[in-house]
Amino acid sequence: EDRIITGTENDMDTWQYSLRPKRLDEYIGQDKAKENLAIFIKAAVSRGEALDHVLLYGPPGLGKTTLASIIANELGVNFRVTSGPAIERSGDLAALLTNLTEKDVLFIDEIHRLSHSVEEVLYSAMEDYALDIIIGKGPSARSIRLDIAPFTLIGATTRIGALASPLRDRFGVISRLEYYEPEALVYIIKRSAEILNIKIEDRGAAEIARRSRGTPRVANRLLKRVRDFAQIKGDGVITDEIADRSLAMLEVDKAGLDNIDRRMLMTMIEKFGGGPVGVETLAAAISEERDTIEDVYEPYLLQLGFINRTPRGRVVTTLGYKHMNIDMPNNGGQ
Ligand code: ADP
Repeated sequence: EDRIITGTENDMDTWQYSLRPKRLDEYIGQDKAKENLAIFIKAAVSRGEALDHVLLYGPPGLGKTTLASIIANELGVNFRVTSGPAIERSGDLAALLTNLTEKDVLFIDEIHRLSHSVEEVLYSAMEDYALDIIIGKGPSARSIRLDIAPFTLIGATTRIGALASPLRDRFGVISRLEYYEPEALVYIIKRSAEILNIKIEDRGAAEIARRSRGTPRVANRLLKRVRDFAQIKGDGVITDEIADRSLAMLEVDKAGLDNIDRRMLMTMIEKFGGGPVGVETLAAAISEERDTIEDVYEPYLLQLGFINRTPRGRVVTTLGYKHMNIDMPNNGGQ
């Protein structure tokens, strides 16, 4: 999908790799995760051991991959990247693991999408740095244990709830990444602008930041689009006015919502009296996947306080009605 404000990575985002910070102190925001990791990294380095396995979770585009590569960098080890869907058979994982050198970081994105049989192989690898391999078939089959180099697994997921608990329990460090404050995004936008040679005023950066859904990947994407607008419609400098006009043209509203978010809110209001409405019903009503609603749309609307989750379903809040410019019915919402 081509939504400009989605945190999910698409093919057009690879240019953003050049914007990735390389060191922990260049990585803005996420203070809690960073503080913890800094201590663990220091301790592992001083003991000369592999860092404990790390699980990073949170919505797409918040910097999980970036942080994982920084960890490898700070440890001074290789960074190997793969993803849950890319590892189809347990043999694929065994090949990856046996190719690691000591203390390397293996990053598995979307780790919740590993198949069960692959996950099983991961357990002994994580726990004992060993692979149990079955040789032969039928009654003569036997299992041999193969040692692998001590390594650090860094898993990333947007859905911690979808992770099997035996897998989750094998991570020594579990860190949740949060949406970024506007101030942190302003900093990230100005840093990206500098790298990309884009002229931007502070208020221009602030306008983009407010509309970036707390997500660096979205902020970088909007920055690039606004730059084009500034070149064609202005004198190349991103001011708050240029940012506002171009984002309005891209149909990203003042709160960073796009048409799909607004359609979802409108549907909840008009068809379901503001809720409560179950996620399946809502998914059918707006023709979207349930997972996309839960992983992509909902977290930000919840963060803004435009909707609430109740045991009986989702409801539009007073703030949500206000944003849509609709009077809240007395009995509606919550
Ligand atoms: P995720 O793995 O969570 O989907 P990424 O690590 O790929 O997110 O981050 C998306 C982009 O956002 C990166 O390419 C990087 O340019 C930028 N980014 C993410 N976090 C930060 C940060 N803390 N500081 C600066 N840039 C960041």
